[in-house]
Amino acid sequence: MGRDSYDVIVVGAGPSGCAAAAAVAQAGPGLSVLVVDRADFPRDKACGDGIAYEVTQELSALGFDVERVFDGTIEVADLALRSPTGVRVHRRMRHQVRVVPRQIFDARLVEEVRRRGIEVRRHSVRTVRMTGDGVCLDGSLQARVVIGADGAESVLRRTTATSRPGRVALAIRGYAPELPELAGSQYITMTDRHWPAYAWSFPIGDGRANVGYGELIGHRPLSRADLLARLHSLLPGLAEPAGLRAHRLPLSSGRPPIPDGPVLLAGDAQSMINPFTGEGIFYAVVSGALAGRAAARALLAGGDAGAHYRVATRRRLGRHLRHTSALARFGGRTALIDAGLRAGREDQRAFDDLVSFGLADGLLTPRLVGRLRFHD
Ligand SMILES: Cc1cc2nc3c(=O)[nH]c(=O)nc-3n(C[C@H](O)[C@H](O)[C@H](O)COP(=O)(O)OP(=O)(O)OC[C@H]3O[C@@H](n4cnc5c(N)ncnc54)[C@H](O)[C@@H]3O)c2cc1C
Repeated sequence: MGRDSYDVIVVGAGPSGCAAAAAVAQAGPGLSVLVVDRADFPRDKACGDGIAYEVTQELSALGFDVERVFDGTIEVADLALRSPTGVRVHRRMRHQVRVVPRQIFDARLVEEVRRRGIEVRRHSVRTVRMTGDGVCLDGSLQARVVIGADGAESVLRRTTATSRPGRVALAIRGYAPELPELAGSQYITMTDRHWPAYAWSFPIGDGRANVGYGELIGHRPLSRADLLARLHSLLPGLAEPAGLRAHRLPLSSGRPPIPDGPVLLAGDAQSMINPFTGEGIFYAVVSGALAGRAAARALLAGGDAGAHYRVATRRRLGRHLRHTSALARFGGRTALIDAGLRAGREDQRAFDDLVSFGLADGLLTPRLVGRLRFHD
């Protein structure tokens, strides 16, 4: 039986939770930290398994042994994109990305957290109560600050946030033999039928690819059969994928404001997913790290943890989030996506800017905007 009172408790041991725990340990080595997760690791998570280059940089800065985390995993250099109306671009990316099944990636992050002496415990959080000097979870676990890194269906968010996530997508993924014409490349093909929507194929290095399809949740109900039919129509010839799993994606264009107080939400719990690509691991790691540092700062130097986190998030990701949210408002216009892909087709650096905009903290650069072409 472990102790029940900590400086910081992190709920969820996915990428945002592991980054948060590592950041607390780095910024405040004397602080006591507990990570709880309802699952034992390794555990699966519905995901495309695509890990941006910038994730490696962030993990490295947090002290993770990235050689160990990515040992034996595949790097992919090529990205092929097809717009809803059929504009295509296929180029090498400036930085290779990784494709690592989450069953492996997340378990290795947890291993790294444990190697740093941080306690990780299996526990499913059900109730959250504010106390005079912090937060009480399930009537027994006490912390001065709690970081809710518990994913898209976050219990922490449901019990503490003032608003619900605004824009949410739904996606399904599985594993299938790679289509020969896509071998070795990451491929994303968009459709105007249920726009914004796309299917992907990301190779995992053993002849199979992580394949999936996602679209924005609207007014129509969306069944598993709908998602699968749309996947097969966008990737013709695909065998029936194994290990199918669907999950919701809370997009950053509908993220809730960050309030004052001792409960900080990070990653999917804070709706940090890129609204154009559905990529969320980079934003999970960055927001987890910011939350961890904000918690340590509040405990060591004083001030409100939520206020520190809000300011740090604005500084680190504010411009990127403003650019993606602004563009998402025009996202219904497929002509804009066509124009972006034509820019990337014409110019490698515009392509690099597009990739950074979709996978990390890139901006709408003058170079990219200047190269937008609304006609072939
Ligand atoms: C189909 C699909 C494809 C995607 N493809 C990509 C991609 O290719 N690249 C990319 O970057 N992003 C992708 N994403 C997004 C990415 O999966 C998420 O953004 C990312 O997992 C968020 O990390 P997180 O740590 O915030 O949450 P999670 O990874 O969801 O981790 C949350 C953790 O909290 C635990 N938990 C939940 N509730 C509780 C509770 N009550 N008590 C205790 N523990 C709890 C869970 O067990 C879990 O381990 C995809 C998402 C989907 C659905």
